[in-house]
Amino acid sequence: MKYADEYRDGRLARTLAARIARKAAPDATYHFMEFCGGHTHAISRYGIEDLLPGNVELIHGPGCPVCVLPMGRIDAAIRLAERRDVTLCCYGDLIRVPGSHGMSLLRAKAAGADIRLVYSSLDAIRIAEREPRREVVFFAIGFETTTPATAFAIGLAARKGLANFSVFCNHVLTPAAIQSILTSPEAGECGRVRIDGFVGPAHVSTIIGTEPYEFCARDFNKPIVIAGFEPLDVMQAIAMLIDQVNEGRCEVENQYGRAVRRQGNERATADIAEIFELRESFEWRGLGCVPRSGLRLKAKYATFDAECRFGIESPPAPDNPACECGAILRGVKKPAECKLFGTLCTPETPMGSCMVSAEGACAAHWTYGRFRSQARATS
Ligand code: SF4
Repeated sequence: MKYADEYRDGRLARTLAARIARKAAPDATYHFMEFCGGHTHAISRYGIEDLLPGNVELIHGPGCPVCVLPMGRIDAAIRLAERRDVTLCCYGDLIRVPGSHGMSLLRAKAAGADIRLVYSSLDAIRIAEREPRREVVFFAIGFETTTPATAFAIGLAARKGLANFSVFCNHVLTPAAIQSILTSPEAGECGRVRIDGFVGPAHVSTIIGTEPYEFCARDFNKPIVIAGFEPLDVMQAIAMLIDQVNEGRCEVENQYGRAVRRQGNERATADIAEIFELRESFEWRGLGCVPRSGLRLKAKYATFDAECRFGIESPPAPDNPACECGAILRGVKKPAECKLFGTLCTPETPMGSCMVSAEGACAAHWTYGRFRSQARATS
């Protein structure tokens, strides 16, 4: 196949659905976690769950970078933006994420903070060059997909000697999050989340390759299939996972062969390794503090590290107690199980990060009306 719409072909989707139905043993159940918010959106948008037999369940994972950013980091960004000398540059989907006390970057901007929406880290570099009297801070978030662009910007700033540019680094790592889920009590002894395999990230894997997931099959006996974001990609990955479960295999398989190699993108991973190092621990919304799951700038680039430059601290801050984002990100609950879903919390009035981000599970279920079929099923 050559064009994106070929991966959305309804006739092929029905053929694949029939194949999945034949593969799924009627006396077995299959529970697969799609790690990525991109997969969650494809599943909701194209109604993939409606095409699957009842004994194949999809569970949403924590692969939305905006959703997993804990409240304390949002609060820290707001405090930073409120400094009179700072221009904070961030991606658009961060601006409405709720912080503590009803604040958000949007509200801080309305109150006068200099917050600018950018499409890339290089936009922030350009602003820093244009406005040398401002301290320009790039609010960097994302999994391994976006980390190379941040690394490139820091390298460029170093080469240019750009003294008024820095990065508030919140880059996090996918394999550590998968390990955290697999070692959680909910997926272990208490058994609230059953996971028979993973639909693995597409874009992240173009950077890191398939090798970093091999622990998942080797140490936890969980199959994983790296899959693209189109509906036929996701359906083919589900068929491949069912095959692995039926045959008692636990392997890392690559459905997204058109973009992912085992060793990943070596140029991008070298750029990351030049600039960043592992943090001992990083806090995630829903997962708590996960060892070796986040990145910070190496000491030789400390001059570009906003946490060092401005003495940023981000003490933990509690989420809205009625918001179930944490449980949704761990796969324990579905969006419609939150009391606020679709009532107090909608994309226009988000109470939690999962309703704000374009990759959030709550936003996906609301936007594509997936909660209606669930409501019918439970009524
Ligand atoms: S519906 Fe809103 S409040 Fe409930 S879990 Fe989702 S984002 Fe949080």
